[in-house]
Amino acid sequence: MPLYEFRCAAGHVEERIAPPRTTTAACSCGEQGTRLNVFRISRAVIPGRRINLAEALEADAEVKHAYARAGVEPPDIAGVARRAVSGMQEGQ
Ligand SMILES: [Zn+2]
Repeated sequence: MPLYEFRCAAGHVEERIAPPRTTTAACSCGEQGTRLNVFRISRAVIPGRRINLAEALEADAEVKHAYARAGVEPPDIAGVARRAVSGMQEGQ
């Protein structure tokens, strides 16, 4: 499950591991926290595609966020995927 940041009415920002699409979580102060939209990602789902693009982008954003927090350059996941798909198409 992904790690999200939530901010409550008192301004506390806390991390919670929560199911995808979770929008609120209880803060340790007792207030309800709202999930922070750290990443601007598309919610569009392309009909007919077997991969949920929004979930793939969200996962990519989660990885980049985790790497950024660790101070490490994130991997180019989308680039790796494009090269893999390109290689599969060339192999047909
Ligand atoms: Zn709080």
